[in-house]
Amino acid sequence: MALFEFSLDGETVKAREGETILDVARRRGKRIPTLCHDPRLEPFSSCFLCLVQMEGKPGYVPSCATKAAPGMKIVTDSPQIRIARKLCLELLMSAHNADCVAPCRLQCPGNVDIQTYIAQIAAGEYRQALETIKRTNPFPCVCGRVCPHTCEIQCRRNKVDEPVAINPLKRFVADLDLDSGRPYLPEVAADNGKKIAVVGAGPAGLTAAYYLRQKGYAVCVFEMNPKLGGMLRYGIPSYRLPDDLLDREIEQILALGIELRCGQKLGRDFTVHDLREQGFEAVFLGVGAWTSSSMRVDGEDKPGVMAGIDYLFLVASGRPPDVGRKVVVVGGGNTAVDAARTARRSGASVTILYRRTRAEMPAEDFEVDEAEREGVEMHFLAAPVALPGNGRVERIRAIRMELGEPDDSGRRRPVPIEGSEFEIEMDTVIAAIGQKPDPDCWQGDGAPGSTRWKTVEADERTHQTDVPWVFTGGDCLTGAATAIEAIAGGRKAAISIDRYLRGLELLPIGKPFTDSIGRLEDLEEDLFADVERIPRAKGRKIKINRRLDNFEEVELGIDQAQVMNESLRCLECGCTVVDSCTLRSWCEEYDVDLGRFEASSRPRPVVDDHPFVVYDPNKCILCGRCVRICLEQQGVGALGFVNRGFETTIQPSLGQPLLTTDCDACGQCVNTCPTGALDAKRPLPKPGPYQPDCTPVVCGFCGLGCRLTLETSGGRYIKAFAEPGAFHNRGNLCVDGSFGHRYLETVPCLVSPRVRKDSAMVEAGWPEALGAAAGGLARARADGGVAVLVNGAMTNEEAYLLGRLARTRLRTNRIAFLDSPPQPPPRPKGGERSSRSCPGSPATAASC
Ligand code: FAD
Repeated sequence: MALFEFSLDGETVKAREGETILDVARRRGKRIPTLCHDPRLEPFSSCFLCLVQMEGKPGYVPSCATKAAPGMKIVTDSPQIRIARKLCLELLMSAHNADCVAPCRLQCPGNVDIQTYIAQIAAGEYRQALETIKRTNPFPCVCGRVCPHTCEIQCRRNKVDEPVAINPLKRFVADLDLDSGRPYLPEVAADNGKKIAVVGAGPAGLTAAYYLRQKGYAVCVFEMNPKLGGMLRYGIPSYRLPDDLLDREIEQILALGIELRCGQKLGRDFTVHDLREQGFEAVFLGVGAWTSSSMRVDGEDKPGVMAGIDYLFLVASGRPPDVGRKVVVVGGGNTAVDAARTARRSGASVTILYRRTRAEMPAEDFEVDEAEREGVEMHFLAAPVALPGNGRVERIRAIRMELGEPDDSGRRRPVPIEGSEFEIEMDTVIAAIGQKPDPDCWQGDGAPGSTRWKTVEADERTHQTDVPWVFTGGDCLTGAATAIEAIAGGRKAAISIDRYLRGLELLPIGKPFTDSIGRLEDLEEDLFADVERIPRAKGRKIKINRRLDNFEEVELGIDQAQVMNESLRCLECGCTVVDSCTLRSWCEEYDVDLGRFEASSRPRPVVDDHPFVVYDPNKCILCGRCVRICLEQQGVGALGFVNRGFETTIQPSLGQPLLTTDCDACGQCVNTCPTGALDAKRPLPKPGPYQPDCTPVVCGFCGLGCRLTLETSGGRYIKAFAEPGAFHNRGNLCVDGSFGHRYLETVPCLVSPRVRKDSAMVEAGWPEALGAAAGGLARARADGGVAVLVNGAMTNEEAYLLGRLARTRLRTNRIAFLDSPPQPPPRPKGGERSSRSCPGSPATAASC
């Protein structure tokens, strides 16, 4: 074929007659986005995303549909081209009206892949679920108990009945793993010779250490206290988070090979500068917020007045102070409620004094409920003004408040009511009105600065401080917050530290790119009217009368049966192909503005009437690949465009169910779809998304040997696909290739060895089972009774090898080929086999 030359991005390149610009550019490794292009199809250029500039031609030309020609000059990338492509994507996205990432995951500060782990739980894959969680959170036992689970606030199930009990699900798989005797440990890369210091062993520091160690860094943790866990240990009381559980979860982090130096305080025993001298190439500062805010009232320094975190620290360290018979706790956050419930366990009567109302309390609602049930009294709209008395504190003078205008926090400002002062007698005042970091510990020569809120001066998107090799995260960056925020901070800082040490540019680490049908509060009330109501699982709790003389864990979680039911309540809001969607990845790369062309409309119903295929019109960008592949490759034409403008959809001929058309269920439409609009139904209780293992295989249903890839998760089959245009089958598959492997899930398989004992099949180890099989064969051969049956689903090669085994080793010619392969999928109506479709038939096998 004649070769000619043209200019591609200033370079002279050769092309063959008939080749498009896209063909040549891709061959030369250029990155040109496409959505409607499939190498098996005639160019369509409906998405226009592959546009390039051609000298002498105004505007742009689609590279997929423009043939290369001698002497032409083409530019494939420039700022203008990027702007134009971004515009194309924004127009396409105006028709896309669906969630990419599930709202629960988006709401989670730790970006934990909640929908995936719930799907894995529903499939009984508890270990896989745990691994999914630990990809972004090494503290699932902790978070399963204490996380404020903001994920549940955005759970769409709120519109049906109650949110999915996400936290108890996490707690279940995390506890199960810890108790398994063989807890999950991630792989650790080979040592890369670089040393990193982590200062502070709270959730932020330990998380940073966990992810950095996995990358092969030598990590050394410096901690001022004798034990690890930070506020998880010394703040949160053990009736909410038992110490031994925290210890065991932390052990799983240290087991990766992390060095520890306890009793080492930054600012007292060493400085940031010393760490540099000791050869550390990066530092993570995770020193938390350990300074209590002052009440700013007279008498605050008297004996009998203590800070909430100091009180909880002493109790957690096994040195509980004597608080007397009456305690007043000032504040309305987690620390106040924990201090109050802890003081109740020492036998004191406790009153919480809070300057706003219950609705404004920062503490979790259910914690306040529990405190009240345990007998803590609440005194709202009151604040201390003085702590009078000689010597030890005796009473608190307080003033009543009313709520005024909202302040910076959005909550209404408490305003004192003049002349409303009153006094309460008590033995101890616990002040729990807030915590902040202590900048004195890190400041000094070559160390990071601090902000006016006493936090570390740093870029919150990259976690890098104003000293480039020092990074930070957790409470000392954000101010006192939550465990999951600290965990998120530690993980993001680890990503940045790794990039920094590899000499790469630091990237802002934000939320994943996603389209969304809207936040919960903006959705139409009747959107989920058809969804069946199922009550949320309720966890067990210790009875009140058994709580107050001990620190036993109060919340006991949910059991396995509840876990299974609860996982099935998930509405699967996120897209099943979220991580492999071509549209989403181009949108992310081109930084698409989803609000640019809003064409919001009520989501359309998902078409779910086919046994293997599901069509979600809300995700369809009308690229036409499914319509064309059905017609051009399969010669069937079962799909077409219907209506016009925003009303356009893809539908089977005459708007009938796909099953009643000539569709032969080849799955080509699913395989070519560049979004999640057409997808294969998963033979698992929940469709995912899964983070699959991909295994390239040769299809064994017939002798054509089509290449395809099997997606599995934890050994469970999810779906099969073939790469468009690749290998001799060019990405084409028949019904068996596309959907036949579903039998791996739908037909009972022998998954572990068994032997017959007393006429029953019982589980056995491999050596025993193989020995029994060999013995059986030897006996049968001695009796001249061996026959070999070849399963019809075997490949030609497998059948040939079995034939050889039979003849050479078993010395028999009694070889037969079963004529029913292991359950190819039921063929839907209209499902005539294409000429290439030839599932493992006796004829094929017999030809070996
Ligand atoms: P920390 O956990 O404070 O850890 C910092 C570590 O650094 C500590 O180990 C500390 O000893 C060490 N350190 C400090 N200074 C130095 C130094 N100079 N040198 C060496 N080491 C140092 N969050 C929730 O999500 N749910 C809850 O229910 C909840 N309840 C809470 C109850 C209380 C009473 C408190 C105080 C906090 C609560 N939190 C809760 C918040 C949560 O515990 C914190 O947000 C989280 O622990 C912060 O993690 P961190 O790693 O940033 O800091």
